[in-house]
Amino acid sequence: MLQFTNTLGHKLEQFVPIKEGEVRLYTCGPTVWNFPHIGNYRTFLFEDLLKRYLKYRGFSVIHVMNLTDVDDRIIKVCNEKGVELGEFTERYARAFFEDLNFLRVDLADNYPRATDYINEMVVIIQGLMRKGIAYRGEDGSIYYSISKFPRYGELSGIKPNELKVGARVRVDDYGKDSAEDFALWKAWDANDGKIFWETQLGKGRPGWHIECSAMSMKLLGEHFDMHTGGVDNIFPHHENEIAQSEGFAGKRFVNYWLHCEHLLVNETKMAKRLGNFVTVVDLRERGVDGATLRYFLLSGHYRYQLSFSDNSLEQASGSVRRINEFVSRLEDSLKSSKDEGSSLDSDTAMLVETARARYVSALDNDLDAPDALAVVFDLISEGNRMLDRGDLSRRSLEAFLEFMRKDFDSVFAVVSTLSDESLGELESRLLEERKAARRAKDWKTSDELRNRLLSLGVEVQDTHDGQKWRRVSKTR
Ligand code: AMP
Ligand code: ZN
Repeated sequence: MLQFTNTLGHKLEQFVPIKEGEVRLYTCGPTVWNFPHIGNYRTFLFEDLLKRYLKYRGFSVIHVMNLTDVDDRIIKVCNEKGVELGEFTERYARAFFEDLNFLRVDLADNYPRATDYINEMVVIIQGLMRKGIAYRGEDGSIYYSISKFPRYGELSGIKPNELKVGARVRVDDYGKDSAEDFALWKAWDANDGKIFWETQLGKGRPGWHIECSAMSMKLLGEHFDMHTGGVDNIFPHHENEIAQSEGFAGKRFVNYWLHCEHLLVNETKMAKRLGNFVTVVDLRERGVDGATLRYFLLSGHYRYQLSFSDNSLEQASGSVRRINEFVSRLEDSLKSSKDEGSSLDSDTAMLVETARARYVSALDNDLDAPDALAVVFDLISEGNRMLDRGDLSRRSLEAFLEFMRKDFDSVFAVVSTLSDESLGELESRLLEERKAARRAKDWKTSDELRNRLLSLGVEVQDTHDGQKWRRVSKTR
């Protein structure tokens, strides 16, 4: 039975979609004002694991992830640097998609940008004003009156600060001690410079929280299955989203809320403002491959904090190597195996079947990745012993491979030798040139060649045994 811990109610709940066989999933995406750090990617990869597992369990998933391309921070930087909003955010949006590719993320069906949904936001705000839930302050901005929404605080367990009735918060992100009326629409002021929209609400720009209500309801409907983010999104962002969406539509917004705990460095949350962050590009430049980083970020249970260190990356690299060596051994043995048409021996059948059942029950239990990985490594140990003895039939080798490919790698996506195809002439040449560049420690050329190969649909990884590659979808 598939179960998740629902932040709304703090209970482990059986997952039942609204429409049989289909899951509508909204995940809060990056603010494109900077290169995301690997803490951000911990949350995005948890979402990737969730989605891939839902697909593995037979659901079709409709996945939307927004890009926040206007907020307080973006406006401030654009005005300081004197750059156009669109030009500024586009650069970081592109970098984000490169990272997703590097980390083997199964792309969402839609990546809407907040600035393309201003009209939808205006409609919701007008609806809230008509219902008397939103009001215009004397500064011309429009605020959400949290006292008009009795369930305010249900998600985060926070009690609105009764002492400050009518108090308002205008900034996008704030702490729990400011559970006050929050801005839906901010009237233009000189600090906004050239960044504003002329709408029926006046000249101004949206607050941060309204964008996710507008984009999720437009693209997934007013009531959908799942909404996720990092734990810091619970308050105020998701609490406010519920208030806006349910206040407007008058019905339940989302059934399951899932939140990923933080990635830490030296026991502190990794965060841009603390300066203790590492980006994907930083690690790429150090030669860390996508599968290793992906494995590390997925190896902890999403509801527990995870600590980043060089040592943790080395361990992840060792685990990925062990997995890939096992798959290569199976593939090589299969190629040289002569016993055509032999049957699956009952020991192997039982071993793989038991592993599969344990693997599924671990992931069914609130996506327990560490438990599922322990099952996989037990199977690898046993499989390696059997390979050492050389007593695996062709069908038995195939049974192991099927588990590693279909059950394990469709969800974790870290295996690098899945392709039986050979490389084309150009691809082989680029790979050889890259090998030479790396030998000469010419990292710039090596990176350029990696990107060139990626654009041709060949992802290269640097392992202890040299370059490995696999086919991926072509980048633009
Ligand atoms: P932002 O770009 O700031 O909107 O953040 C994007 C996502 O990353 C949000 O879902 C955050 O909750 C999440 N996030 C931010 N910092 C961390 C961290 N240190 N560990 C895990 N997730 C994080
Ligand atoms: Zn959001």
